[in-house]
Amino acid sequence: MPAIATTNPATGETVKTFTAATETQIEAAIARAAARFADYRRTDFAQRARWTHAAADLLEAEADDVAAMMTLEMGKTLTSAKAEALKCVKGFRFYADHSEALLADEPAPDASAVNASKAFARYQPLGVVLAVMPWNFPLWQAVRFAAPALMAGNVGLLKHASNVPQTALYLEDLLSRAGFPDGCFQTLLIGSGAVERVLRDPRVAAATLTGSEPAGRSVAAIAGDEVKHTVLELGGSDPFIVMPSADVDAAVTTAVKARVQNNGQSCIAAKRFIVHTDVYDDFVTEFTAQMSALRVGDPTDPDTDVGPLATEQGRDEVEQQVDTAAAAGAVIQCGGKRLDRPGWFYPPTVITDITRDMALFTEEVFGPVASVYRVADIDEAIEIANATTFGLGSNAWTRDDAEISRFADEIEAGQVFINGMTVSYPELPFGGIKRSGYGRELSGHGIREFCNLKTVWVA
Ligand code: NAP
Repeated sequence: MPAIATTNPATGETVKTFTAATETQIEAAIARAAARFADYRRTDFAQRARWTHAAADLLEAEADDVAAMMTLEMGKTLTSAKAEALKCVKGFRFYADHSEALLADEPAPDASAVNASKAFARYQPLGVVLAVMPWNFPLWQAVRFAAPALMAGNVGLLKHASNVPQTALYLEDLLSRAGFPDGCFQTLLIGSGAVERVLRDPRVAAATLTGSEPAGRSVAAIAGDEVKHTVLELGGSDPFIVMPSADVDAAVTTAVKARVQNNGQSCIAAKRFIVHTDVYDDFVTEFTAQMSALRVGDPTDPDTDVGPLATEQGRDEVEQQVDTAAAAGAVIQCGGKRLDRPGWFYPPTVITDITRDMALFTEEVFGPVASVYRVADIDEAIEIANATTFGLGSNAWTRDDAEISRFADEIEAGQVFINGMTVSYPELPFGGIKRSGYGRELSGHGIREFCNLKTVWVA
């Protein structure tokens, strides 16, 4: 189990360690959350929106410091960390402004048809919700849980990844300073081994986990045993299809961005580039040139495009995946070797000639490594896109309406972005199918996940 600590991925130096919460502290936090829920659930939307807006305003003012903290803890570039902080501001404001409408009573179309004078469905909070979160978007992942959960009247317990404790504690502090009463949102500094104890507690109503498939399976199994609702946002190996009618130059530029965003560690990063044979050679040449030209280095330097991977183990895994594919005959077009310097740097890498028997064909690579496949036609493109156990995001580039329609209908994924890259927006549902998980975050669907939809019938 990893220690709870801030370790700078750009240097490998551990700068601060934290002590895990004791059983007494865990018990006290759950008790505080449960007690708070009893009155917090009765606050109205206007009050919750005032606190949520206050959180947005504070975060906006503190965005530079928050960005520096995230860069220190997990190595994303300062530029992308600042963008993440400001995205959280938008997320808070979206739920502050829209939650009341998103959770409005839903009247039955015809009450007399169900022998009622009045019949409607009402969304009510579930109670104490546990969020198990990953380090890759350390603030955004937690805020996209916290904002809708709190606006719906739930209270939250955050078990964040062990390598981002300062960001986790910052969020608790931010929400407290914004005015949310004590116990509404607490960070539990615990390792993954203590998640079961919290989840099995009868005072905890539900859980949401964003992270790897094994972590999701474990939490879902415990929640299943306890008959508690869960939302799982797990891994992805998103396809990025390029057809002959596409604007190939724009596709290449976006492909680079979609692969190396967040130093290549995004669940919705495009990971498998599936390119029609008519444009394959041009695509590979230009894509490789642009990936090679990216500046890898100090994430605090504004000129850096790609910083280090977040953990040593993550860097070693990526390296092992690439080495195994190369040994089996895949061709490394660029990159493919860790950087000889302190910190966990791995360069943007393009790999071609991957065959179906290679592990790389099916695995998710959580680093700046792009696999490129040549396909003969749209049928083969869709077949390869779907030849994965994951189903999170997907991208397709074409100017042909019939092809757009086929991609929208036939790609097995929670989202399909045409002529663009997958992005999460507070306004749009976000989530996956297959082993990418279930349930949705963001939009009205995300806030309703942690509500009891109660039917009210009046004679
Ligand atoms: P991870 O190891 O699964 O960690 C995620 C969180 O789960 C951490 O808080 C971790 O705690 C905890 N955890 C790990 N094992 C657990 C277990 N057996 N029981 C309970 N909790 C457990 O994930 P990661 O490797 O750091 O993150 C990368 C993965 O997350 C990738 O697969 C990526 O695609 C996925 N991801 C998905 C989304 C999405 O929205 N679908 C978004 C971001 C990332 P510790 O840190 O203490 O181990």
